[in-house]
Amino acid sequence: MIAHRSISLRLTTWFSSVLFAGLVLFGAIMWFNLDHTLTSSRSRTLERRVDRLLDLLRDTASDAPADRVRKFQAFADATGGGLIEVFHTDGSRALPSPTAAARAFPWPPIGPLTADRFSEVTFQSQPYRVLVHPVSSQAIIVCLAAPLEANRQLLGTFSVGLLWSIPAVLAVSALGGYALSRKALKPVDQITAATRSISVSNLSDRLPVPETRDELQRLSETCNAMLARLESAVTEIKRFTGDASHELRNPVSFVRTTAELALRNRHIDPASRQAFEGIVAECGKANQLLKDMLTLARADTGSSQLAFEPVDLAEIVRAAAPKARLLAQDRGHSLVGSVDDARPAMVLGDYSALNRLLLILLDNAAKYTPAPGTIRLTLEAAEQVRLTVADNGIGISPADLPHIFERFYRADPSRGQVEGSGLGLSIALWIANVHQASISVDSAENRGSAFTVAFPLLASAPRRDQSAAGGALARVG
Ligand code: ADP
Repeated sequence: MIAHRSISLRLTTWFSSVLFAGLVLFGAIMWFNLDHTLTSSRSRTLERRVDRLLDLLRDTASDAPADRVRKFQAFADATGGGLIEVFHTDGSRALPSPTAAARAFPWPPIGPLTADRFSEVTFQSQPYRVLVHPVSSQAIIVCLAAPLEANRQLLGTFSVGLLWSIPAVLAVSALGGYALSRKALKPVDQITAATRSISVSNLSDRLPVPETRDELQRLSETCNAMLARLESAVTEIKRFTGDASHELRNPVSFVRTTAELALRNRHIDPASRQAFEGIVAECGKANQLLKDMLTLARADTGSSQLAFEPVDLAEIVRAAAPKARLLAQDRGHSLVGSVDDARPAMVLGDYSALNRLLLILLDNAAKYTPAPGTIRLTLEAAEQVRLTVADNGIGISPADLPHIFERFYRADPSRGQVEGSGLGLSIALWIANVHQASISVDSAENRGSAFTVAFPLLASAPRRDQSAAGGALARVG
């Protein structure tokens, strides 16, 4: 079986992939932007701190060294976790380290500097932003470091937020997108279902047209216009078949009558007699074929004239019994029939059409059973009225079974061996359909076939008096 992929699913997958890529890109840009902003702000803090330190160094230039160191110490303490060192250009300390941490800190190499230099250094597993600021007028280099841990935590919280929110936004939008596309494409399912239900027998049906003023509305309207064209073409073909069958019947009858007249002449030579007899036989077959084609053409155009009335199928079975027996005996078979008399087999139907249906099934049973065979005709009335014609003939292969109701279909063993046109069961099916009956076949090759037609029982059918029927099955044949 082909797995059908839905457009909604594909659209949702595409849309979600694009959205996912967009969200990831957006998240990455925001992350780098935040990182850059936080780092810049740290750098500005360090610059401001350098300016204040230089002011302090200038202001304390004339102080006693001990005072100067104390004030420097106080300044360093006020930075809250920041580290400060003041070096000479040769790398020696210009002022003592204010803290042990500042002393141990891996300051970048001092070297000959002319401009500020920022860098990032990891100390005791903590990231620091470091500013190395040369003061050429005093031949000193001021080094400051500020911890970046708070920035890292902020970025971490932001990343966790992104990691939760991206899948959540993705899930909500995928579900919403899927639901919306399902809703938008719902008319497609309706159009598909309606298109699937249209066949040559209901070409007058039309697809629902969604009032959406979009491609779907145009698609339905285009399909409907195509159906209208097909319907008129098929009607034309059906009318032609009907007319042709009708028109051909007269010339065929004329040829047959003429041949029959010629046969009445006792003086014709044997060869001509044989030829005329052949013409009569072939004309008979052609006439039957034309009659069947006309029946089906009328069925197709709905112009068959059937008179529906309550009919007791048991009566039809009994009335057809002599002909059925003749059909069976002609081919060397025996006919066994049983009618369940407990209840009248009342159906709403056309007497002659039902009679024809029965004769088609009996004729086939007789034709497709090698002599001497047995043909069983059964009629039961319960919830439904079931008419069964069973034989012990050649049966039907599983490959042919699905096709035997098609027009002009004949299973291979039938061709050439048994007379027929392949229209009998098509007519039987049509008759069953117009009577709201179902027709089913149970068949096994070389064992026989059973055709069962199940009619709806006419509601008003009363139960027959059991004693009158004796609860027995009446013999037909
Ligand atoms: P026809 O009998 O004119 O060929 P039908 O439409 O009546 O056409 O039957 C179609 C085909 O179904 C037959 O050709 C035959 O192969 C098969 N068939 C019908 N009835 C029987 C049956 N009782 N036993 C075996 N085959 C059957």
